[in-house]
Amino acid sequence: MYRILHCMSRSTFRCITGCLGEYPLDEIIYKCPKCGDLLEVVHDMEALKSRSAAAWIKLFDERYLRTTWPYGSGVWGKKEWVQPHVRDENVVSMLEGGTNLLWAERYGRELGISDLWVKQCGVSHTGSFKDLGMTVLVSTVKQMIADGKPIRAVACASTGDTSAALAAYAAAAGIRAMVILPRGKVSTAQLVQPLANGAVVLAVDGDFDNCMAMVTRLAQEEGVYLANSMNSLRIEGQKTVAIEMVQQFDWDVPDWVVIPGGNLGNVSALGAGFLMMKELGLIQKLPRICVAQAAAANPLYLAYKAGWDKFQPVAAKPTLASAIQIGNPVSVRKAIRTLQKFDGVVEQASEAELADAAARADLTGLFNCPHTGVALAALEKLIARGEVRPSDRAVVISTANGLKFTEFKVQYHEGKLPEVPHPRYGNTPVYLPNDYTAVRDEVRRRLE
Ligand SMILES: *Cc1c(COP(=O)(O)O)cnc(C)c1O
Ligand SMILES: [Zn+2]
Repeated sequence: MYRILHCMSRSTFRCITGCLGEYPLDEIIYKCPKCGDLLEVVHDMEALKSRSAAAWIKLFDERYLRTTWPYGSGVWGKKEWVQPHVRDENVVSMLEGGTNLLWAERYGRELGISDLWVKQCGVSHTGSFKDLGMTVLVSTVKQMIADGKPIRAVACASTGDTSAALAAYAAAAGIRAMVILPRGKVSTAQLVQPLANGAVVLAVDGDFDNCMAMVTRLAQEEGVYLANSMNSLRIEGQKTVAIEMVQQFDWDVPDWVVIPGGNLGNVSALGAGFLMMKELGLIQKLPRICVAQAAAANPLYLAYKAGWDKFQPVAAKPTLASAIQIGNPVSVRKAIRTLQKFDGVVEQASEAELADAAARADLTGLFNCPHTGVALAALEKLIARGEVRPSDRAVVISTANGLKFTEFKVQYHEGKLPEVPHPRYGNTPVYLPNDYTAVRDEVRRRLE
């Protein structure tokens, strides 16, 4: 049945300014050739409406986490809504999505809300939500190469997680990958992932915004395909996080979603997923959205406070939340448009606030990366000022796996982070001689 729909539906790139250019999804194009603004993928909504909301729900539920390849993937199970033109033989999937939506019961109770959930997007093949978008991008590239397009390699600038995802999916597809990273600004785990997957890793003495400018030029001049989130194919994969969380609530919409933001592609994707469900009748309302930024890299926060039309890039200062150390976010216009539709807010967190929030939630069984810490700190502020109410259902998007950030965690607990000299929840090992009495005495002391 859905095979028939594939043929019927036409999805294209369209300029976000409404300058009316439309371009096929297999064209090598990242920005509007007429006005230079971002593109977005638009789907043939009339064709998609030929299936009822109830029928979509039934189809998505039948596929979810099952074994018929590739529909068991959280992304490809929604293929008609994401990238219908990719032929199944070109899908490069590592069963992304299907991540745990965790009821943070104890942490929520401490904060005074009982309906708090953490969407664990970091429990994924390369340990971050970037897998959701990269499977769509690399699959599309695989098909473009099969169809004879002149693509010599895929490339990205990265604060760590994008390059890990690109390298893994490209390696699985047998496509060359090149990644450009700001030297010394990604974690060891993030650096070793693309190395292990055989990517060319270029560590540049500069920041992310410098790397981004370089890869954009390479894409224009050297025949490499740009894999950054300016490329809206990735947004299509990432938007499934919204669909999946609603599915996990048996098609109920939460009141709030809190998401950390850097380049601001992910919040745009989150919004796109909700809007598509609403347009196709699967949901009747929208959640409110909070974007959480590190105070060290907060251009969206400043624009939220000053008025959206006052947006200005900033020079991002170093932050423990290294994946969102971005001063000139590529997707800012999409993000502002999203926040306007979702009665959105922006919050920020200092270095101490993000580290303490991550550690506080860890004490209830989580293991949070610093970016998730930014979102948790923002949530704590929203609850404290009564914007998120005790009866609200709130979802925090956890963007990466804490295991990628062990240096951050170890140094926090040892009190060695210069940014957080007085960790509120530090915990260190007790070093003891090989002597039963010494161990027993320590245990007794702890039991008092
Ligand atoms: C990429 C990334 C973000 C930011 O996502 P944007 O789309 O750039 O806003 C947040 N957290 C982690 C762990 C990331 O890898
Ligand atoms: Zn345009």
